[in-house]
Amino acid sequence: MVSALDSRAARIALAGRCTLAGTRMLDGGTHAWGGEVSWYPPGGRCRACGLGPAERAVQDDPWSCAAPDPAAEVGASAPVSALVGAWLADFAVRLLLGLSVPDAPLRVDAAGFAMPLSGTPLRALADPDCPLHERLPADVPVLPLDHEATVADLLDHVGVHEEPLSWAGFSRPVRRRAAVRAVTTRLRSAPASARLSALGVAPREVLPVARRDGSGLRYVELAAAGRERRGIPGDLTEARRATTEGVR
Ligand SMILES: [Zn+2]
Repeated sequence: MVSALDSRAARIALAGRCTLAGTRMLDGGTHAWGGEVSWYPPGGRCRACGLGPAERAVQDDPWSCAAPDPAAEVGASAPVSALVGAWLADFAVRLLLGLSVPDAPLRVDAAGFAMPLSGTPLRALADPDCPLHERLPADVPVLPLDHEATVADLLDHVGVHEEPLSWAGFSRPVRRRAAVRAVTTRLRSAPASARLSALGVAPREVLPVARRDGSGLRYVELAAAGRERRGIPGDLTEARRATTEGVR
């Protein structure tokens, strides 16, 4: 997985998905006059290792160039972006060819503090306090429906006390005009007739399902598009179809 994201929050979210799937991650990032390319092999440290809970929770979403924030940091200069992008592409090609890349982050700084290959080797053991090292179980069940199925279709295949979640938040319907957009990942909050794809669910997505008895998460996988088998007899109950918007 090649990460070229523009916020720490997005990188941490992607790091969690990579460790969940056991996938390696190559990350590139920039600041005003420099940048960094880091390689995170499976089983080692991730982008969030070494960060405290408050740092992991920071929401530093990018802002529009049309509404500059005078207190915000200066964006990366174009030559620096090209420089870091070239290193990122070079590392990606080497990995695709089965060649090695440096263990430690590659850091460049056009302001005069070039520090190629410095910092903690990323093959080192993961931070035991980092919560992003859960792995998917080997036997994730594949549901007989794809990402074009509706929320009601999905609820037919989870227990009444289970809470299927999306990875990306979506706007939750609100009955009164709200000053702040209500965003949720609880798929039961969506209209029962809403298609999963319209809520940002990707093809063949693996969705987490929270269990309200406190026993943690389980996961379900959507079938490849066109391979769904909807309407399994005897699997429909009104209780399972109940969303916060009512029974379909
Ligand atoms: Zn970690």
